[in-house]
Amino acid sequence: MIVTDTHTHLYSEQFNEDRSEMMQRAFDAGVSRFFIPAIDSSYNNAMFALEKSYPDHVFLMMGLHPTSVKENYLEELNIVKQWLDKRDFYAVGEIGIDLYWDKSLLKQQQEAFKIQIAWAKEKELPIVIHCREAFDEVFEVLEEVNDDKLRGIFHCFTGNLEQAKQAISYNMKLGIGGVVTFKNGKIDQFLNKIALEYIVLETDSPYLAPTPFRGKRNESSYIINVLEKLATIYNLSPVEIANITTENSKQVFGI
Ligand SMILES: [Zn+2]
Repeated sequence: MIVTDTHTHLYSEQFNEDRSEMMQRAFDAGVSRFFIPAIDSSYNNAMFALEKSYPDHVFLMMGLHPTSVKENYLEELNIVKQWLDKRDFYAVGEIGIDLYWDKSLLKQQQEAFKIQIAWAKEKELPIVIHCREAFDEVFEVLEEVNDDKLRGIFHCFTGNLEQAKQAISYNMKLGIGGVVTFKNGKIDQFLNKIALEYIVLETDSPYLAPTPFRGKRNESSYIINVLEKLATIYNLSPVEIANITTENSKQVFGI
C-alpha cells in the first residue's frame, strides 16, 4: 500500500523536536509520498532542508500563501518567480484567497492568485488552492482564467456538493483531510456522490488533525484515519482507496 499525503507542512517548526521519528511513523504506516506546499520566503530554507533529508519522498511546491500576501507581496512574488525559473517544482502552491483572517487585502490576494496561476500555466504545472471563507471569490478567479491548461487540487475542500462539482469543473481534484472525520464536518454526507477519481488525500499537517486526534498536532501518519473514513464512505478497502488516490496524485503532479 502506498499512501500519498498531497498537502503536508513537514518543515514546520512544530516538528523540529522529533521530525525523524514523525517521518518514521508515516513510513511505518505506508505513507511514503509527501507533497509540500510553500507559504512564503521565510519558510524556504526549512523546506529545502527537508527535501535534502528525504529526496526520494518529499516533493516541493513553490508559491505565496494568501495569508502571507502583505504590503510586500510583490517582492514575495518576485522570489516565487525566481525559484520557479531556477529549478523544478511539482506545483504552484499553496495559492488562493483567505478571508477568514483579513478581508482588507482581498484585491491583493486576487492579484497574487491570478499572477501565480499564469506562472503555473506557463510552466505547465498544477496549482494547489487554499480557499477559506472565499468560495465565491476563488470561483470568480477560476472562471476568469479557466482553460485547458488550468488544473490542480482544491486543498482542504470543505464546501458543499454543488461547490465540489464546480471545483471539479475547473479540472481540480478535491483534497480531503481530517475534516471528513469530524462529527460536524459535513463533507462525509455527500462525498460518495463524487467519483473517487476526483479525490486525493492530505493531512495539512501540523493543522486539522483527524478524529481521534482532533485539536492536537497533526502528522502525516494520521492520514490513515482519513483513509479509513473514505473506505467507509465509498465502501471499498483502505488499500483500494490508497491505490486509487495515489494514482490520482500521480496524474496531478506527474510523479
Ligand atoms: Zn497548507
